[in-house]
Amino acid sequence: MRQSRHVGKTLRETPKDAQTAAHALLLRAGFMRQISAGVYVYLPLLHRTLAKIAQIVREEMEAAGSEELLMPALQPRELWLESGRWERYTAIDGIMFAFKDRRGSQVCLGPTHEEVVTDVLRREISSYKDLPKNVFQIQTKFRDEIRPRFGLMRAREFIMKDAYSFDADEAGMESSYQAMREAYHRICRRIGFNYREVEADPGAIGGSASHEFMVLAKTGEETIIHCPNCGYAANQEFASSRLEEYPQDPEPLPMQEVFGEGLIGVEPLAEFLKIPVWKTTKTLIYETDQGVVAAMVRGDCDVNELKLAKLLGCKTLKLASPELIKELTGAEVGYAGPIGLPPEVRIVADHYVNNRVNFECGANKTNYHNINVNFGRDLPPPQFGDFKLAKAGHICPRCESRLAADRGIEVGHIFKLGTKYSEPMNCVFLDAEGRRKPVLMGCYGIGVSRMAAAWVEQSHDEKGIIWSPQIAPYHVHLIGLNLEDPTIREAAEKTYERLQAEGVETLFDDRPLRAGEKFSDADLIGLPIRLTVSRRTAAGQAVEYKLRHEKEAILLPFDEALVKIKSFCGLNS
Ligand code: ATP
Ligand code: MG
Repeated sequence: MRQSRHVGKTLRETPKDAQTAAHALLLRAGFMRQISAGVYVYLPLLHRTLAKIAQIVREEMEAAGSEELLMPALQPRELWLESGRWERYTAIDGIMFAFKDRRGSQVCLGPTHEEVVTDVLRREISSYKDLPKNVFQIQTKFRDEIRPRFGLMRAREFIMKDAYSFDADEAGMESSYQAMREAYHRICRRIGFNYREVEADPGAIGGSASHEFMVLAKTGEETIIHCPNCGYAANQEFASSRLEEYPQDPEPLPMQEVFGEGLIGVEPLAEFLKIPVWKTTKTLIYETDQGVVAAMVRGDCDVNELKLAKLLGCKTLKLASPELIKELTGAEVGYAGPIGLPPEVRIVADHYVNNRVNFECGANKTNYHNINVNFGRDLPPPQFGDFKLAKAGHICPRCESRLAADRGIEVGHIFKLGTKYSEPMNCVFLDAEGRRKPVLMGCYGIGVSRMAAAWVEQSHDEKGIIWSPQIAPYHVHLIGLNLEDPTIREAAEKTYERLQAEGVETLFDDRPLRAGEKFSDADLIGLPIRLTVSRRTAAGQAVEYKLRHEKEAILLPFDEALVKIKSFCGLNS
């Protein structure tokens, strides 16, 4: 492509709202433009990169036995009523774009396709002989995200690869799941990501087991908890951990109310009370669709709200407002405790709150704290559960080592769904004995457009993006300098022709600009190889060859450069 005709000019300034490198660089290098919040135009360079990522994904899906189809983005409400997810995706989470068509029927733009694919396959499958099946598509998804941000990372319209497997029994589902999991590893490796597979929460999609593929990056929205010793790794929202247990007082002491003005954080409080932090307790008041809940965790811990919601069996959960906290506890925020709350408040506590003799908790009175509190004597033992947030420094759930934390970008997510959709939607088959059984499903998503952003986040420097040949929009950036000179122009044009004839994808900077501008644009766009034809090189049929990630350029005869290009980009010679 000639850059003089190319759409997507580079920008000098970093756009104001771009908080991550990927967001800023993809805008500045002319890969995309924003149309509205979380909605982007994929300009030609990004379009090419997305096509390459999609192609790698496609090849690995097909190699794993999945077959490509394309389902509609426009979906009828009826299917979502059958699965029982309409309310969650519209009224509760509000993530779905839903509206009425001219006939008054409710429709939505698909945020995901479990409903549609189950409808498609239930018409295809009637006997165990029709199983297994596995289909995938690469398609635009729509999600009305609360906080669209970081450009392609969390967009409202984005490209996803979603695959779905259908099996007759657990063993079949397991082997489909493992095949997809291996395909995801191959995809991440082929693209060249520095990534980690983690255990994840099946979430709103549902099902029994789930893994996420996380690209490691400081700006990642997800926190990964992992064990450097045994390899345990999980998304923090799903991770488990153990805490050190301490020797306890031999005897319960009398409970006491202590005045401690303005002591809000657990550290100053523990210091003031002359007790270790692990003896303090945080009591958080939540509003849920099932009423108000007081959740207790050890003072050195935080609440994992996803786990808490699961324990409570509630659909919505948010921290109570200061007004409500005041009304329920009679105190300012920061002094809530389990003793003396109104009876309608349900109390739950994390396991590690238990087994402590003489612990502290808020007294439901501004500036007051109860010490030497003991379950059974001072308050009935509440319902216990596991809902503390796992953190770096906690003990691994699988071995005795300490856990570590990393930030990651979720680029892929796979789920064992079991009969979560096949049962309500009646996707059934007759087994060898003629019994009707629901099909066992799995679903497997990859954020194709998010992967492009994740790559840039992981691979850039102060000058711009550094693409790998696997997903670069073009292999070579051919820079023509001094093109006003007809011999140089001719040499540059000839080089461009030869590269194309050899199947090397080339962006030819034939614009009448200064060398400095061309080189800085080349660094910003970040194609893996830069070739320069100029006054210096033209006479001798040579080119200046430079890899984007290396500092030095070398002068080479064209044929030698071509060999290097082909080998670096994995092209057939
Ligand atoms: P997240 O937790 O990041 O909101 P999710 O768990 O809801 O994502 P899935 O339903 O698992 O997402 O979707 C499969 C994949 O699609 C994700 O792993 C991610 O790569 C991608 N994806 C999801 N939401 C978005 C979005 N808003 N913008 C871009 N890509 C997305
Ligand atoms: Mg996910």
